[in-house]
Amino acid sequence: MHIHNPLSQQPLCLICHQPVRKEPSLFTLVYDTPLCTSCLSQFETIHYVGLFHDVKITILYRYNAFFQTLLFRYKGQYDYELRNAFTVNFHHFLSQYFHNHVVVVAPSDDIANQKRGFIPTAGIASSFSSDIFTGLYKKAPFKQAEQSFEGRQKIKDIIDIKNGDVLRKKKVLLFDDVITSGSTLEKCLELICLYHPTSIEILVLATRSFHLEKNF
Ligand SMILES: [Zn+2]
Repeated sequence: MHIHNPLSQQPLCLICHQPVRKEPSLFTLVYDTPLCTSCLSQFETIHYVGLFHDVKITILYRYNAFFQTLLFRYKGQYDYELRNAFTVNFHHFLSQYFHNHVVVVAPSDDIANQKRGFIPTAGIASSFSSDIFTGLYKKAPFKQAEQSFEGRQKIKDIIDIKNGDVLRKKKVLLFDDVITSGSTLEKCLELICLYHPTSIEILVLATRSFHLEKNF
């Protein structure tokens, strides 16, 4: 049954499901954003650019309470529509800047992904790229947040790569949602480099760290 909604002409915000009001700002005039201005304003943008093991890394947001909740709705409650919410502020930049890159997504838990029916990082990457590589995987389930420093080092032993040949002579963008210790990304870089891509860069959505230069 279809219930008539007088506001149905207006798209609904992916996060709060309220109508996205077209307020006269340059942003809403240029981009057809699926988020309302109130939700957009809760992303704490940092747009950090630096080096991680001599590789250029870009981090878009601070991992604040809003981001944490949003990521949980997406990954923990399987709200797949939210995949398009995370990069709205940067959609133009990402799709232009990385249009000729293969986006290699950091590995996630296969068992959890089977329950979800989707790979969270690949879903988000699909909001700005159509060339996505999902060959990085974990040989065993591993919850990084529950591990000690030594435990996090062990993650390097359980990440592996398959079909890496497609990365040869390609521009690679390694993508992850959150950077914690950096050991996952470090291992991913190591595996990708075995296939000698033309270039490699890293994009991460959010960081918990307030001392970016020192803590990862
Ligand atoms: Zn909203």
